[in-house]
Amino acid sequence: MTGYERIPFMNLGPMHSMVMGQMKLKFEEVLSKNEYINGDEVSAFEKEYSIFNRVGYTVGVGNGLDALRLSLLALGIGPGDEVIVPSNTFIATVLAVSHVGAKPVFIEPDLCFYNLDPNNLAASITKKTKAIIPVHLYGQSCDMVSINNFAKANGLFVIEDNAQAHGSSYNGILTGSWGDINAASFYPGKNLGALGDAGGITTNSLDLANKIRTLANYGSRVKYYNDVIGYNSRLDEFQASILRIKLKHLMEWTEQRQNLASKYSHLLSGVGDLVLPKTHVSSTHVYHLYVVRTKKRSELKDYLSRKGVDCLIHYPVPPHLQKAYIKLNYKLGDYPIAEELSSTSLSLPLWVGMSNEQVERVCSVIKDFFTSNF
Ligand SMILES: *Cc1c(COP(=O)(O)O)cnc(C)c1O
Repeated sequence: MTGYERIPFMNLGPMHSMVMGQMKLKFEEVLSKNEYINGDEVSAFEKEYSIFNRVGYTVGVGNGLDALRLSLLALGIGPGDEVIVPSNTFIATVLAVSHVGAKPVFIEPDLCFYNLDPNNLAASITKKTKAIIPVHLYGQSCDMVSINNFAKANGLFVIEDNAQAHGSSYNGILTGSWGDINAASFYPGKNLGALGDAGGITTNSLDLANKIRTLANYGSRVKYYNDVIGYNSRLDEFQASILRIKLKHLMEWTEQRQNLASKYSHLLSGVGDLVLPKTHVSSTHVYHLYVVRTKKRSELKDYLSRKGVDCLIHYPVPPHLQKAYIKLNYKLGDYPIAEELSSTSLSLPLWVGMSNEQVERVCSVIKDFFTSNF
């Protein structure tokens, strides 16, 4: 063992201690208002997030999965429809499509940036295709110009899965503002995270915003009058109040993530067979995750763990090989890039408040590993 304190994969402690005083005051304020659902904090957050994301409307919902699911429902997508999703995403993107009764159609990412490859779109659409869900994976924006052009030319909707990339952009235009409706997750570990489950949608369409608001609130616009068969998926006052506090720090925290990532990239360049993350010239990367790839992934992960460094794998099994999707009849080899990524990717520790020394220690353990293994 090293004699150092263990380096966790993620630690929200330092971020929270920066705003602890404000969060405690806000907690008392919200408590004293005695209003917990559909109150002032939620509407203030929705306005502030719209300004941040440069969109017309934000609607807070219960979580990121619901944000995706409600977006599909609001666009009228359901049984008999097909929706294009990346083959290497987190399962929630795919589940949302299944929940509305549509069929997820996987397309491969490119091996350089790990985002959905727009060149693969044409071969994957059928008469049933209704929408594309680009996922800004690990915090880097997809090529939204190509995706939107393709969607427009083919009459498809675009729903961005912006769970990992708040504040990222393509050609200077923010993720979450390109699609017809866009889904955000504010799960605690996301770049903008609440203290529990939370999510939201962003859109420039008042009509779609209203539809989502109604669907998420029992199908009701006026209390006890139900226009459609809706759901209950609302952002609550406490979570909204925390998100308002954290939103003010998001870009400063993003810069910290980017600095830590560039330190990693500097120290790990040329080490072993490591493939480091690359950022497309037109994209910005907000480093929700810093993901490297190596053929010795499991050995490296075990070695790091023995030396006191915790890493995670995003994601060990691609959606098409998950037991939940056994009925889609996919087999190993159907999506080789997603499979390659799932067997070689390793996410290194990265959080707001992580020190340069901690990054240096992770890198020196990795260098030790490769010196003794090659
Ligand atoms: C986290 C995440 C979601 C789901 O968000 P929840 O708030 O956990 O429901 C969806 N898509 C991606 C890519 C995610 O990382």
